[in-house]
Order: sequence, then structure tokens, then C-alpha cells
Amino acid sequence: MKHSIVRFVVVLLASVLPMTFALHAQDESESIFTIHVVQRGETLFRIALQHDLFAEQVAAANGITDSNSIIVGQRLIIPLATVASDQRLAHTVSAGETLASIAAAYSRTEADLLSLNSLESAEAIYVGQELVIVPGETEPETAPTTIPSAGADSSDEIEPLAASAPGIESRLSFARYGDPIAPFLYKVRSGDTLFEIALRYNQTVDALARENNLLDPGLLRVGQQLIIPGIQLPRLAQDLPATVEAFTIDPQVLETGRSVRIELRTSEAASISGQFLGRELRVIERDDARRHNIIVGVPMFTETAIYPLTLQLQPAEGDAVAIAANLQVVGGGYGYQTITINNNDLLAPAIEEAEIERLTQLMSGFTTDRYWLNSLSLPAAAAMNAVFGTLRSYNGGEYNRYHRGVDFAGAPGTSVLAAADGTVVIADRLQIRGNTTIIDHGWGVFTLYAHQRETLVEPGQVVASGQVIGTVGSTGRSTGPHLHWELWLNGVTVDPLQWVQEVFP
Ligand SMILES: [Zn+2]
Repeated sequence: MKHSIVRFVVVLLASVLPMTFALHAQDESESIFTIHVVQRGETLFRIALQHDLFAEQVAAANGITDSNSIIVGQRLIIPLATVASDQRLAHTVSAGETLASIAAAYSRTEADLLSLNSLESAEAIYVGQELVIVPGETEPETAPTTIPSAGADSSDEIEPLAASAPGIESRLSFARYGDPIAPFLYKVRSGDTLFEIALRYNQTVDALARENNLLDPGLLRVGQQLIIPGIQLPRLAQDLPATVEAFTIDPQVLETGRSVRIELRTSEAASISGQFLGRELRVIERDDARRHNIIVGVPMFTETAIYPLTLQLQPAEGDAVAIAANLQVVGGGYGYQTITINNNDLLAPAIEEAEIERLTQLMSGFTTDRYWLNSLSLPAAAAMNAVFGTLRSYNGGEYNRYHRGVDFAGAPGTSVLAAADGTVVIADRLQIRGNTTIIDHGWGVFTLYAHQRETLVEPGQVVASGQVIGTVGSTGRSTGPHLHWELWLNGVTVDPLQWVQEVFP
């Protein structure tokens, strides 16, 4: 046992009580031991509970084999370092959080978190990252600002913090509906009474005494840790301009070929602009410019890495404020496929590139109205026989192309259905996609239907979700009758099935 000699020394020195010893061990965490003198009526179970330990842990630290054998006046080593390691929490970084705000929310320093997580700099954290946190003890000055009162809606308890930049008011906010993730422990200070502590945390003296198995509520000792029932440790520690009420990114980890929702809510009208992956973002303004939605399609061949999202918030009055978050992009987990095709002319890269270029131009527009309602519906009553994203090699070449849509194995003549309300952009014959219909659903969302035998709508025509717009065929570069269905988001092809299963934005 690494600390056995230290413990022996502690026992020898522990003549004055209560007493806490802080020893800096080789590892990064601080090892703290407290000595507890057994009082009349105490059991090992109660003593352990007071220190948020299991009776077995206290017994093991003191070489006790029979938990009923403790006696009044006996000095017990309470291994608080064990508490710390057991109380390691995983904090998932959310949009708007900074290392400083997370550290403050858990009463730690940025340096603590950098060291505990082997991070090089505070700027390195990204949304969705799991940080290891060992919550610190709340200082008297910060207790009212970092701990929401129990029972109340903590969103009303937002307290301003020191400004992170001149002229920018920022704040910490806490999750409203967070599950309790650890008991909040209050460390008794000199002069504290249970009544005052109860008052501070919106509790009753009885509840605190019951929760902590206090035999005599009048007998508190300095350094004693009290469980405060109902207090939740913060899950969100956003450090955002005061006008920002919410900042969410869903999902938090981005996948190539899939779509992500970014939402910012502001208490006053504001205009938002932003950039991600080298592109200017299209921001949808709603609710009198207080709700700002962005839907981003992650291009298929984006490298797995962390990328900065930058937003600029321009309030109706005053200076623009920058908001940043690092976002992780990972591969979408698509498979590989080799395809053999006889007509090599159609494989000429120039033909494919020209078609993609034309489609990109057709589907890069942004209609400010939204025509789809909830999720999209499937475009054919037929079995799906190829999913989106499969990396493809044609005739033994490189895997430098991918399946840009989802295939449905409909028999020739099967109805092709509009996946949502919208306006027809083209119904035309393309070299690779054959007879193709494109529908604009607004807000940068388009669907495309390829290889049709015939198209039954005209450009400019308004169509409804489920309306028959054509029939399944095998026109263009096709190995047999099927419907090839694509979804384009601001000029990027993404997995359409995500839009069938989820509601955007
Ligand atoms: Zn296909």
C-alpha cells in the first residue's frame, strides 16, 4: 500500500482533533486524510456515510475486520482521497462552454482540469468531449453564484460572472432538468450552524439532520461534510453573452454525410452569421429574429478532426459578439463497394463532375420559406436495397466516390412520391441519373429522384408530400430498375434517411 507509511505517521500525529492532512502524492490528485474520533452512538456505517464512503472502505483503511468492534474514542483514518477518485464525474462539453466556465461550475481551476485531462490548452476542448472532473469544495463567496437553490427553476438563478472580454457581459447557466449526478457536499466552516446551512440551501434543519444521520444537530465540526439533498451539480456551464438564452448543437459529434442542427436563442432580436468547414453558414431567423437555426450537412470526405464553428451575434444595438465552439467530425461508418460497369464512357470523370456541378448549382439556392413539416416520407413503396454513403470503386479504381443517395428496388412503373411539400426545380434527363426530378423544400433542402422511367411533373409546379411525381425505371447509369433518392442540404449531399427518422431543424 503506497500510503501506508504516511498513514502511520498521520496516526501518530493525530493528537488534536479535528484535523485534516493534505499530502501531495506522486500522481496529480491530492491525497487527503481526515481523522475521525468515534463518538458515542456512532456506527461504522454512519461514520462512512458522513464522509460519503462505504463502511467497507473505512474498515479497509483502518484494518477493521469486524465492523461492530469500533469503540468510543477510537481514531479512524478517513481516506478522503478515495472519495475524490470515486467522485470523478464525466462532464460532456456542450456548446457555449469554456474550460474556464466548466472549472468554475465545479469549483476547480482551469489548471486542475487541464492536468486531470492531459489537455494542452483550454482552447483544445470540443463539444461532446468527456472531461473528467473531481468537484471541488465550494468556497463561501462562490456558493450563492455557482449552486442553484434546490427546488427552484435554476434557469432563473443565473448570476453574472466576471466579463470574459471588455464590454461583453457573460454568465454561467445550469441545466434545468439535469439528473442528479453526484451528491453535493458542503464542508462545515467555523461558526456555521445547521440552521444557517439549511437556510442557505433552501432546506430544513430536520432534512439535513436526517440526510446526514446527525444525532445532535447542534454538534457540527469544522471540516465535516454535509450531504445537501436535492442539489444537483451543474451539467451545463455555458459562458455566453447575456442575450443568449440557449445554444445547442445536435448531435454533438458530427458525422460525415449527416446533418446537424445548431440553434441559438436570444432574448432580443439579433442577427447571426457564422462559418464552419470553410463555408458561410445559412442562418434561418425565426420568432422575430430571436430564434436562429442552422442546419449543416457535413461533406462526405471531411477529414476526421476537430473544427472550429464561429458565430457572430449582432444585437439590434451595440457591438457584435463572437461565439465559438470546437466541433468534432468523425466518419459516418459507411461500407465499401466495388462496381463493375461496361460502358466506360459514362465513367469519364468529366461527365460525372459536370453533372455534379450542375446539380450543385441547381441545389445551392435558399428559399426563405420552409415547405416540409415534420420528418420526410419515403419516396417509394418499395424495399430499400442500397444505403447512403457506401464508398465506391468503379471497375477496380480508387474508392473516391460514394453512393450519394438511397436506392429503392421498385418494379418498373412503381410510383415515385414526393418526400415532402415543395416546388419542382427540374424534371429533366441527365446522363448519369437519367430522368431526374428535383424538388425544393425551402431552407436549402432539396430532394432528387433519379433513373425514373417517366417524370410526371413540370418545373415550377408545387407538389405535396406523397404526391406521385414519376415512375421507377432504369434510365441513365443504372444496373436495373430502381429509384435513386438524394437529399441535398445547402449544396451538400447527406443521408436522406436521417431526415426520415428525425425532424429538422
Ligand atoms: Zn443509388
